Amino acid sequence: MARLHLTPGRERTVLRRHPWIFAGSVDRLEGRARPGDTVDVIAANGDVLARAAWSPESQIRARVWSFDGETAIDHAFFKRRVAESVARRATHPMLAGQDGQRLIHGESDGLPGVIADRYGPVVVLQLTSTGAEKWRDAIVAGLVQATGCSAVYERSDSDVRRLEGLEPRTGCAFGELPEGPLLISENGVRMEVDVVSGHKTGFYLDQRDNRKLTGELARGRRVLNCFCYTGGFSLQALAGGATSVLSIDSSGPALAAAARNLGHNPQLDAARAQWREDDVFEALRALRAEERSFDLIILDPPKFAPSAAHAERASRAYKDINLFGFRLLAPGGILMSYSCSGGISLEMFQKIVAGAASDARVDARILHRLSAAPDHPVGLSVPEGEYLKGLAVQIG
Ligand code: SAH
Repeated sequence: MARLHLTPGRERTVLRRHPWIFAGSVDRLEGRARPGDTVDVIAANGDVLARAAWSPESQIRARVWSFDGETAIDHAFFKRRVAESVARRATHPMLAGQDGQRLIHGESDGLPGVIADRYGPVVVLQLTSTGAEKWRDAIVAGLVQATGCSAVYERSDSDVRRLEGLEPRTGCAFGELPEGPLLISENGVRMEVDVVSGHKTGFYLDQRDNRKLTGELARGRRVLNCFCYTGGFSLQALAGGATSVLSIDSSGPALAAAARNLGHNPQLDAARAQWREDDVFEALRALRAEERSFDLIILDPPKFAPSAAHAERASRAYKDINLFGFRLLAPGGILMSYSCSGGISLEMFQKIVAGAASDARVDARILHRLSAAPDHPVGLSVPEGEYLKGLAVQIG
C-alpha cells in the first residue's frame, strides 16, 4: 500500500477526525497509487493516522475511510459501513418506516462521496469521489443486502464528479425500476419521485421535518410557497388546513409534477391551490404591486452560493427575496426562510434575514431554527456538512 506523507503540522485536522486531506497538506506519496486506491496516511513523525482513498486530480487529495490505520479496507468494510448506516435509520423512531429517506449521507456516515436515498422499493445511489467509485460494487451489494430493495438506480451525474476526474454515470446498478410513477408517502401526503430526471436523487428529503412543521403552522393561513418544485411544502400546507396556497416555480416540469401530486391526494381541497410559473424575484414584486398579502410564506430557493466565493452575490439574492417576503406578510405572519448554500453560514444567514426585516421596517422574532432532517446527520468533526439552515420568523 502506498504511503501518503503529510507536511509537518498538517496531521492536526486528521487527528480531529476530519476526513479531507487537501493538496496543501500532502508532502509526498511514497509508492504508487491509482485514483481511488487506499493509502496509509502518515504524520511527519511517522505515525500511521488513517486509511484514505487517493484522488490525485482533486484539491481534496485523499478522503479518509478509517481513522484506525489497521482497518482492512475491503468489500467487507463497505458492506459493514452500509449496513450500519441503514441500521441507524431503522432504529431512529422518526425515521423508521419512512418510505422516503436518506440511507447514507457521505462523510457524516463514514462514507465520503457516497449518497444513497431510498424511495419505497428503489434505492438511488450517487457516487462523487474516486474512492467511492472504486468500491461501487461492494456498496451496491451492501445496499441490496441491507434494504432488500428491488432496484439500485445510479444518479452519479453530479457536477462535482468532474473535480475528481470522473465521468457521469446513470442507470440501474441492480434490478429494474418499477413501471409507472414511484410514489412515497411523507407525513400522510403522497408524492411522486422522478429518480431518473428529478433534482438531486429525485426529491428534497432533507426538508421532510420542515414540511411537517409547515403543515402544523398552516391552519387557517393564506400561504405563499416560493420555489415550490414538485409542491412538497404546498401539499403539506393544504393538508394542515391552509385556506389558500399560491405556489411559484420557474420550472414547467416541476409544476406539472406538483399538479400530478395534488391528483395523488384526493383528500386535499384542490380548489385552494394555485400554481404560478414565474421567476420568484419578479413574482414577489408583482404580488407586492397587486397589494397581495399572506400569513405564511416559504422561501426555499436553490443553492445561490455553492461555495464561499459566491457568498457576496448570493447574500444580495437572499436579502432581496427575504425583504419582499417580509413586505408581503400580514401582521402576525410567519416567514419560513431557508438557505441550502454551503457558502453561507447560519450566522451569516441570520444576519441577512435580520437585515431584510429591518429594511422592511418590521419587528420579527425567531420561532424555530431549522435544519435538515435527522437522516442527513452532520458529523461533529465535519461542520461543513451543515448545509441546510432555516429560520421561522414571525412579525408583528
Ligand atoms: N421546496 C422544494 C425544493 C425547492 S428546490 C421542496 O421542498 O421540494 C428549488 C426550486 O427553485 C426548483 O424547483 C427550481 O426550479 C426553482 N427555481 C430556481 N430558480 C428560480 C427562480 N429564479 N424563480 C422561480 N423558481 C426558481
